[in-house]
Amino acid sequence: MQRSLISLAVMALLGLTSGLAPLTVAAAPAAKAANKVTTQLPRNAVPTHYAVSLTPDAAKSSFSASVTIALDIKQASNSITLNAADLKFSTVSISAGPGKPALAASKINVDNDKQTATFEFAQPLAVGSYQLKLDYTGVIGTQATGMFSLDYQNGGDKKRALYTQFENSEARRVIPSWDEPFYKATFALEATVPAGQMAVSNMPVASTSKLADGRELVRFATSPKMSTYLLFFGLGEFERATAVEGGTELGVVTQKGSIGQAQFALDSSVAVLKEYNDYFGVKYPLPKLDNIAAPGRSQFFSAMENWGAIFTFESAILLDPRVATQSDKETSFLVAAHEMAHQWFGDLVTMAWWDDLWLNEGFASWMESRTTTRLHPEWKWELRAVGTREQAMSRDALATTHPVVQHISTVEQASQAFDSITYQKGESVIRMLENYVGDDAWRAGVRSYMAKHAYGNTVSDDLWREVEKAAHKPVTAIAHDFTLKPGVPMIRVADAVCKNGQTTIALTQGEFSKDQTDKKPLSWRVPVIAQTVGGAPVRAIVNGKAGMTLPGCGTVLVNAGQSGYYRTLYASKAFAALTESFAGLATIDQMGLLSDSWSLGMAGLMPASSFMDLASKAPVDAAPQVWDQIADSLASLHYSYEGKPEQQAALDRYARKRLAPVLARIGWTKAADEAAPVANLRETLINVLGAVGDEGVVAEARRRYAASATDKDAMPAALRRPILGVIAANADAATWDQLHAAAREEKSSMIKSELYDLLGTTKDKALAQRALELALTDEGGATEGAAILNRVAGHHPDMAYDFAIGHYAQLEKKVDGSSRSRYFPGLGGRSADLAMIAKLHAYAKQYLPAEAQGDTKTAIASIQYRVKLRTTRLPEIDSWLAKHG
Ligand SMILES: [Zn+2]
Repeated sequence: MQRSLISLAVMALLGLTSGLAPLTVAAAPAAKAANKVTTQLPRNAVPTHYAVSLTPDAAKSSFSASVTIALDIKQASNSITLNAADLKFSTVSISAGPGKPALAASKINVDNDKQTATFEFAQPLAVGSYQLKLDYTGVIGTQATGMFSLDYQNGGDKKRALYTQFENSEARRVIPSWDEPFYKATFALEATVPAGQMAVSNMPVASTSKLADGRELVRFATSPKMSTYLLFFGLGEFERATAVEGGTELGVVTQKGSIGQAQFALDSSVAVLKEYNDYFGVKYPLPKLDNIAAPGRSQFFSAMENWGAIFTFESAILLDPRVATQSDKETSFLVAAHEMAHQWFGDLVTMAWWDDLWLNEGFASWMESRTTTRLHPEWKWELRAVGTREQAMSRDALATTHPVVQHISTVEQASQAFDSITYQKGESVIRMLENYVGDDAWRAGVRSYMAKHAYGNTVSDDLWREVEKAAHKPVTAIAHDFTLKPGVPMIRVADAVCKNGQTTIALTQGEFSKDQTDKKPLSWRVPVIAQTVGGAPVRAIVNGKAGMTLPGCGTVLVNAGQSGYYRTLYASKAFAALTESFAGLATIDQMGLLSDSWSLGMAGLMPASSFMDLASKAPVDAAPQVWDQIADSLASLHYSYEGKPEQQAALDRYARKRLAPVLARIGWTKAADEAAPVANLRETLINVLGAVGDEGVVAEARRRYAASATDKDAMPAALRRPILGVIAANADAATWDQLHAAAREEKSSMIKSELYDLLGTTKDKALAQRALELALTDEGGATEGAAILNRVAGHHPDMAYDFAIGHYAQLEKKVDGSSRSRYFPGLGGRSADLAMIAKLHAYAKQYLPAEAQGDTKTAIASIQYRVKLRTTRLPEIDSWLAKHG
């Protein structure tokens, strides 16, 4: 699954990056060795095959179905329990096989809390093979959970399409099943559908026959052995484009009329499949692989790796030439690379239980970055590693963090596990370990893991065993340190001594924490790479105290190349030397230093102004990614000064002074030979300069917006989003009404959704109130309200939260079930007001079971940290600005 995407520029504007992240994530008990598979079902019966027959009624938002489940009774019993949610059973019977007498269930017990159904039989079922036949009905929802509908406009007509979303535990809403990843089985699906609609599932269509009433019966080929959460069914007025790679048919499926926007995604799939067939050493095993693009959105995810039938919200896959930007192109590729990596990591080999979810998500995230770097070197994606690590560390340095491998006992906890620890820390740790053992050994380990566990289930140690065998290096001990312990290591670097052309450094391993300054540090074996600037890198494992000898004399750089998951805290002389050498360092090291100095400064381990010192050394022609990061951090600072107008004005003045010349240098118009990352930087700079009140930028955005009514070139696709961002943020009532009218009139579902979103980004309080009221309606679509409200929380977190809780019953229906326990605390978690803490406690007490309160706890920790930062750290920035502003 790909978590909900939010553009980097928007993240910066909302203060979501650079250590101020309000990411709200579960606190879970410390990991125990994840060797025992958790289950919520008695293990007396094991399914082997499901034959499912579905008849959806889109207009009535319901479906009828029957399923025949082949199963083995392992222990004699007169009852069978499986998962079911919101299903109504009419007949339940069991037989020893086709043609054998059927025994009807004597009692059906449905447990809504446990999401199970238990069927009791009058006589005990002996050990052996059976067929359980169930007839039932279920509901089609409006949010992306179970089977759901999405309504959209197509060429002025109202349309409804159906899709399914089963991760993590929602297959039970459509098929009564052993809905846990460990219970793999084969699936044969058939569906009765209206003529003229396209039905899509994991496997290709095997046959289609016309029924007497004009409908069609579509039968799909039988799937390989797989987990229930990977099943998919989609139905609507679709179009499909295809290509073939390595004998596999690749497809992209869109609503009718949008297929022209799918070419880039299709080309990407071809390139990625070729790469993966080679990398994994096991060829993609299904005959086809579709990617189904759907209108609307979810607050929980943007794409899902159903085996053979990836589901992606259209904004994360299609490129509409009227609006697509460079970052949209990157997103489309990345999401495909992520979901396709899951076809192996997750689908072919599946974690035994949610404890090891990172085996899915950490790997897919790492593969996504690796593959993008390899296949699109011009995007310089390798530089994103610093931002990825930062997202993880920012969360991992709070006391409410959890280990990468964590014990999950409930469905709610599994939902909360889709967080920056599982994804970004997982990815960063893999990057570090790959770097430690070497690319070839790592790939050899992955290949033998795939071959050995294909169609099976695993725990993390199954992977470490194969990598260790391939690498002949003790990787398991280091891997355990970083996946079974929570938190961020910190390496202190004492001042260096140079003698006889060699530099000696003393390192001490500690722990970086943002909110537990007196904590006894945990112990990690940290793979460290250090060098003198320009000298050869030297490697060591640092645990406790260690010395390193580096060739050459000069400025010392630790974590050279930035593959290590740790913070580096230099003694003041060493840091001063690095600051002076900043302009000459490799881009990725410049970014790593900026990140560390920002976080260490905000945590009080360095002067908060160290980051400002470093950033002041960035030349106007520094790499676009460096300026992206600086702009991001200055935007975060801008937001952390909210409510302190004088100090904020001083920061804004400085930000404009630094950033305006960079925008002037790259200009508003794309140069013919421009490098791809410059386009992303332009977007960031327009956004951030707009936020810090650059009059020139605001005026130019307004001029272009006004001119765009008559002049197409005034607002080309590449500039459209940042211009609209500036316009919406600074809108007066007339402009807001104009944007609202544009949203209402827009015919493209993708652009429409984006325009409604913008209405929530206004700084004006009265207009933000109107956006909140709009969020209660279905005007922009059933999945849009929660998104608008989330946007309002960017500028007005307290107001958005109070409104959301005040209208809880209405809004709860607009958020998919999997993200409810995260969505509401996420709004309040952006507040800088301690009064919000009591409100969050009250919310959790009223609405959440104890095991689903992790996100609330993290939201509270984020507020406490933000308030501390404002009172204790910003004054140092004030003094720095007084001197340098
Ligand atoms: Zn994923």
